Amino acid sequence: MNNDPAAASSEQPALFSSHTKVQPKSVRGPHRQVKWAVLIVMLVGYYVMPWLRWDRGPGISDQAVLFDFDGRRFFIFNVEIWPQQIYYVTFLLILAAVVLFLTTALFGRIWCGYACPQTLWTDLYMWVERLIEGDRNERIRRDQAPMTRATFFLKLTKHGAWLTIAFLTGGWFIFYFYDAPTLVHNMVTGSVSATTVVMICILSMMVYFLAGFLREHTCTYMCPWPRFQSAMQDEESLIVSYRAWRGEGRGPLRKSVSWEQRKAQGLGDCIDCGACQHVCPTGIDIRNGSQLQCIGCALCIDACDDIMKRIGRPGKLIAFDTLNAQIACAAGKKPRYALLRPRTLIYMALLLAVGVFMVTTYAERALVHVSLLRDRAPLYVRMAGGEIMNGFTLKISNLTRDAHQYTVTLEGISGARMVTSGADETPVSELHLAAVPDAVATFRVTVRTPRESLAGVSTPLRFVVRSETAGINDTYETSFMGP
Ligand code: SF4
Ligand code: SF4
Repeated sequence: MNNDPAAASSEQPALFSSHTKVQPKSVRGPHRQVKWAVLIVMLVGYYVMPWLRWDRGPGISDQAVLFDFDGRRFFIFNVEIWPQQIYYVTFLLILAAVVLFLTTALFGRIWCGYACPQTLWTDLYMWVERLIEGDRNERIRRDQAPMTRATFFLKLTKHGAWLTIAFLTGGWFIFYFYDAPTLVHNMVTGSVSATTVVMICILSMMVYFLAGFLREHTCTYMCPWPRFQSAMQDEESLIVSYRAWRGEGRGPLRKSVSWEQRKAQGLGDCIDCGACQHVCPTGIDIRNGSQLQCIGCALCIDACDDIMKRIGRPGKLIAFDTLNAQIACAAGKKPRYALLRPRTLIYMALLLAVGVFMVTTYAERALVHVSLLRDRAPLYVRMAGGEIMNGFTLKISNLTRDAHQYTVTLEGISGARMVTSGADETPVSELHLAAVPDAVATFRVTVRTPRESLAGVSTPLRFVVRSETAGINDTYETSFMGP
């Protein structure tokens, strides 16, 4: 036994290993085709969306999808979300989360592998890289060799192309926040604001660094999803799996050895060619089992199927499969699949419940909303004539396209009178207010009443707001404060 601590520590495996750049190889196959198709559809949708128009009437943006922070409103086709309805965004996020839970429970990280913007942009960047610098082997060879003028030129071209894509894609996101044709006009005429320019630069640089440099690190270390996706999956989830019961033991293919002889030697269908690992965008070996880094892109399936075809063996040595099916196959039993199971049924029910709740609450939302806020300081003012005055802020959110007239009266304190900002200073018992369409009208209302009409320090007071055209007849309870 070696008791020398220095010698013992030198025998310890290193706790950290330096990162090896992942250089994925190109691959052809059905999953790759699907990934290209999704990429094209998503990119076209992304580019086209800000240019779609949606008639909402005069004076209101006709951009189909617009996150109008200046106007404090989100437009998504027929849906309009005002600041006071921001909870719809929360519901939308909950809905998206449940969809993600359901797809993960059914098919593992299919979102990550096929639809996540990080994956799509990384795919696009890798395609450009391959086009300019060649496929995996050529890139590795070039990276290991000393820098030459040709290599420098190729890398410069690649980064130029990446930056162009970054500005054309990341920068494009800005059109979701401003009226797209107006913004283009401002860009052409040079009258775009500094904030917009900064935003375009930030968004573009994010794409450049995330897709060009960080790549698989984003999925492995920065994204929280891999950390808790295992909670959504179970032994019935269809995930990219290496069928070890068929592939092991692995060993190189020898022409002199038939498949029967190979089997007799304890070898399986895996010829240890490494093709599945070489095409993997995160650089892992799926034969080591389900791993956090696996984004479920299924490119290893395409690579292995190609190898199986070439060596005359049945495909799907790597396939979308469940853990239970693998265990059954390893035991020589027929696998069973259960897409509908308690977990997926619960997610589906949740999806339905949230969806129905969102649609009904949106359909039944109040298009005219009144809110009343009493001044906190001062609580009351003693006027020269002996009257007591309290101040209130009355807000009328008119989400309709029509102007409405409102009548405001008071209940609970006899003799209480009102004055509103911008109107005659003579106190009245009935206020007539107008709220313009598609806006929030704010009125400053002061209520005055003789001291003797108050019940004490705090007297209940009710504002009654009526509008025949807006269909409103509501009472708002508050308190009138006195000495
Ligand atoms: S192991 Fe296969 S499915 Fe997972 S990330 Fe790599 S190539 Fe994609
Ligand atoms: S591609 Fe298939 S045969 Fe080649 S190493 Fe991977 S699992 Fe084995």
